[in-house]
Amino acid sequence: MKKTFKFTVLAGDGIGPEVMDQALRVLECACKGEDFELSYSRHDVGGAAIDSQGEALPKSTVDACSQADAILFGSVGGPKWENLPPAKQPERAALLPLRKIFKLFANIRPGLLYPQLTDASPLKKERIPNGIDIVCIRELTGGIYFGEKKTYKTEDGEDAACDTMSYKVSEIERIAEVAAQTAMSRGKKIYSIDKANVLQTSVLWRKTITAFMEKNYPEIELKHLYVDNAAMQLARDPNQFDVLVTENMFGDILSDEMAVICGSLGMLCSASLGDGSNSLGLKFGLYEPAGGTAPDIAGKGIANPCAQILSAAMMMRYSFGRDDIAKKIEAAVRKAVCDGVRTGDIAFGNAAVSTKEMADAIIERL
Ligand code: ATP
Ligand code: MG
Repeated sequence: MKKTFKFTVLAGDGIGPEVMDQALRVLECACKGEDFELSYSRHDVGGAAIDSQGEALPKSTVDACSQADAILFGSVGGPKWENLPPAKQPERAALLPLRKIFKLFANIRPGLLYPQLTDASPLKKERIPNGIDIVCIRELTGGIYFGEKKTYKTEDGEDAACDTMSYKVSEIERIAEVAAQTAMSRGKKIYSIDKANVLQTSVLWRKTITAFMEKNYPEIELKHLYVDNAAMQLARDPNQFDVLVTENMFGDILSDEMAVICGSLGMLCSASLGDGSNSLGLKFGLYEPAGGTAPDIAGKGIANPCAQILSAAMMMRYSFGRDDIAKKIEAAVRKAVCDGVRTGDIAFGNAAVSTKEMADAIIERL
């Protein structure tokens, strides 16, 4: 009997459903004739779920995800739901709980800019003659975003607030393992980013990662950098990095900086991996584009589907263990874009194609 790769499709709002349809076409084409079957079901999430079922993350959606080996996610939110109370807004009420429920502790974001697309980057071409090819690994379920928060009065009666940042050794070690595996498949070079000159959590972070690499991956070259310097170096010479690993808040900021130097959000994908294993003995994961719902172009059929397609490729790699198919999809996307087939966000003088035409070109090259 053929193996089954089971995932849920949560297309969401805005351009989500438009790019998702095309990603599924590409995925099905890339998997045709293989020794497994794709099995997926679509479920409402975000604004679409608020409209159909009154809540951004219905129980039926969570249940379906629990029974799957991965989630292929689009994007959620949009102007229509902006006036809801903050806790009910699609992003906060859908994406954050999903991360929490499925313990998605590791966020992997490739910062990939093809040399043929350097026009898309705000960096000067001479700084990135060969494009950009780095990966940012961000801890996603710990640190200051999840620590204790409180507001209080000082002794003088002044209003004050505090957020707590904390990490356990085990939380640092498991993200170090993801960084190490990524580095082993690339240049065997890791930069760990912290602020160990002022933060106690960073002192522990640095000590733990150093010991972990010495013990388990002595062949990896590990360097440390303070986050302020890392932000500067990313803009100055991004390719000095290969794999970056950092805690939640620093990663939030640095991965957005990385996205902007890599040009269009329409090209950037991400994976968020859980800490258990799925029914195939691999990592459960949620795969989504780096961009959002792009309300300015939603409904026009012109969004770039590549980020969603590349997210599906990451799903094949991490949750289904088929690096070969991931590479095949990545190569077809690269070839289409480098042949000059471009949606508006990356056209730069080329005639812009539609979302569907972009996917057609990728399918042709598969
Ligand atoms: P959200 O709150 O959902 O993130 P947003 O208003 O921040 O929405 P983004 O989706 O983050 O919008 O997009 C920021 C900019 O990048 C927009 O101008 C959008 O059109 C563009 N963009 C994002 N994704 C794509 C894509 N797939 N194709 C083309 N352009 C995109
Ligand atoms: Mg956005």
